[in-house]
Amino acid sequence: MPDSTASLPEPLPQESPERYMALALEQARLAWAEGEVPVGAVVVKDGVVIAAGYNQPIGRHDPTAHAEVMALRAAAEKLGNYRLPGCELYVTLEPCIMCSGAMMHARLARVVYAAVDPKTGAAGSVLNLFEQEKLNHHTEVRGGVMADEASGLLKAFFAERRAAARKLSAEAAPEGDAGIASNPASAQA
Ligand SMILES: [Zn+2]
Repeated sequence: MPDSTASLPEPLPQESPERYMALALEQARLAWAEGEVPVGAVVVKDGVVIAAGYNQPIGRHDPTAHAEVMALRAAAEKLGNYRLPGCELYVTLEPCIMCSGAMMHARLARVVYAAVDPKTGAAGSVLNLFEQEKLNHHTEVRGGVMADEASGLLKAFFAERRAAARKLSAEAAPEGDAGIASNPASAQA
């Protein structure tokens, strides 16, 4: 009698994606505390968090300082290796083109993200770099883990910024437009 389980793909170790995403959300809150769009990431190897990062392009004057890149740099430094095979990255927002490319260069085993980013997401929203077989042989991707928490955090951040901008423009010029971006995606990138 054939073994009916033999054809199932071998799952990567991932007992509790929510546990790791909760840590990525903590990183996102660190970004907010510094006035950055709240996006956070952690890198996990063999079930252990080895690195973390949060979005900080404004504070660092660095357009590449997205949460994923910060976490990848810290993980590579820690492992002493520019490749991160067998590692998983958890991030609170769908990665952009730059971060998706960096994750492929790192040869991550898996990327797990929370909220979708309809404006700049490169893992299925605007395009899907991970399904380009000529580009990607290493990294699988999964979205939607704790998406409500992650998008709620972004919405709360932008609501606070809009309220602050309204207050400022009301003080400076009652008819003025503060020009603060209302879209989480465009302001994160
Ligand atoms: Zn990015």
